[in-house]
Amino acid sequence: MKLIFIGPPGAGKGTQAERICKEYNTVQLSTGDLFRLNRKLGTELGKKAQSYMGGGNLVPDEIVIGMLNDEIIKPEYANGYILDGFPRTVKQAEALDKLLEELGDNLDGVLVLSVPADELIKRLTARRTCRSCNRSYHIIYNPPKVEGICDFDNGELYQRDDDQEEAIKNRLNVYEAQTKPLIDFYQNEDKVMMINGVGEIDDIYSSIKSVLDKIGNHK
Ligand code: ADP
Ligand code: ADP
Repeated sequence: MKLIFIGPPGAGKGTQAERICKEYNTVQLSTGDLFRLNRKLGTELGKKAQSYMGGGNLVPDEIVIGMLNDEIIKPEYANGYILDGFPRTVKQAEALDKLLEELGDNLDGVLVLSVPADELIKRLTARRTCRSCNRSYHIIYNPPKVEGICDFDNGELYQRDDDQEEAIKNRLNVYEAQTKPLIDFYQNEDKVMMINGVGEIDDIYSSIKSVLDKIGNHK
């Protein structure tokens, strides 16, 4: 399956993508994770991205599109993927269409997770992220078994620099202005599946599973 995951920051894309990948034996391709990895490694790409990311602004399209084009052709994505955090602008969506056409591929669906802004702020201000595997936790809603340590790989949990109140507000505005219009873009292609992202993590996952199983049955 080739899927896109759209939703505002904090909607639960990473949390749900991890479960989908495990059960459907697919892989997540998160442009945010790739930028964070490049920042950690101190690459040129990471240095370029840093100045935009800290304040919650989008990295310019040509940089993101270049990175995605280089990544998606790797063998681990040959049997499908969930794109998490890409595309985020109409220009990126058009570039993705072009790339898929060149590769002779088709998207199977666009999952849209919706969550109101007040809930997103509660989720993001208390999010903690693993330095090594990028899994996310919430200090109250979804805490790790041992405080400050990732359940999966014992990595250190930290607070992202863009999970601070000012940057969060900016990210929510950026989502409304630049990313939300993509729902209409994909609605025209009849690929959009809307999911209510409020509630228990397990219940949201069940709703996602039921739409994914429908796609599976139609293939
Ligand atoms: P995204 O990848 O969309 O930015 P995350 O998956 O990192 O979002 O989730 C954002 C924060 O909200 C994390 O702290 C996560 O543990 C928490 N979270 C995810 N899903 C839920 C949920 N259904 N209810 C409450 N908190 C959630
Ligand atoms: P979130 O938890 O807000 O969904 P991500 O991890 O997806 O965040 O992205 C973090 C930051 O990385 C964004 O605020 C932006 O600066 C940069 N970024 C990630 N993906 C993209 C993209 N497709 N286009 C532009 N910037 C991006």
